[in-house]
Amino acid sequence: MIKDPEKSATQAKSLKEANKSLMDQLHQNQRDLDATFDRHHEEVFAITDCLECANCCKTTSPIFLQEDIDRIASYLKMKPGAFIIEYLEMDEEGDFVLRQAPCSFLNADNTCKVYDVRPNACREYPHTNRKNMHEILDLTLENSIVCPAVNEILKRIKLEN
Ligand code: SF4
Ligand code: SF4
Repeated sequence: MIKDPEKSATQAKSLKEANKSLMDQLHQNQRDLDATFDRHHEEVFAITDCLECANCCKTTSPIFLQEDIDRIASYLKMKPGAFIIEYLEMDEEGDFVLRQAPCSFLNADNTCKVYDVRPNACREYPHTNRKNMHEILDLTLENSIVCPAVNEILKRIKLEN
């Protein structure tokens, strides 16, 4: 398993065209797609230590839904409005995202200051074990550049196709 996110990103970028073809192939043949991703997700995350990586927290932002904002603000004993002003901005699609990367809640040892109440998008990232994977194959392709585990999952699926 690749532990160096930069090396993984370079490799994923060089594989992007091949991975795009794989996604097209998977999109056409959706049979057992969720089960296939789920199996590889479990295997890859069994040998992945996110605390050695944290590349998602360092380079991208989750979407903060209102329920996430309310929960985290309450945990930090802040008003939701003050939380938004301090940490968030609105992106082009009208979603609240972090003002800065790395995430303000990322500790130096890659742990998360708000782990127990983190946004649902963080909890579910990189979404490789969700239902209806065929709906998010483009997103998964993008995530393969951020997340070494997704890159590895795609490599393993490619070997089976
Ligand atoms: S989810 Fe992916 S990018 Fe995020 S810390 Fe784990 S391996 Fe790294
Ligand atoms: S809230 Fe926590 S898990 Fe989510 S991006 Fe920030 S540090 Fe990472």
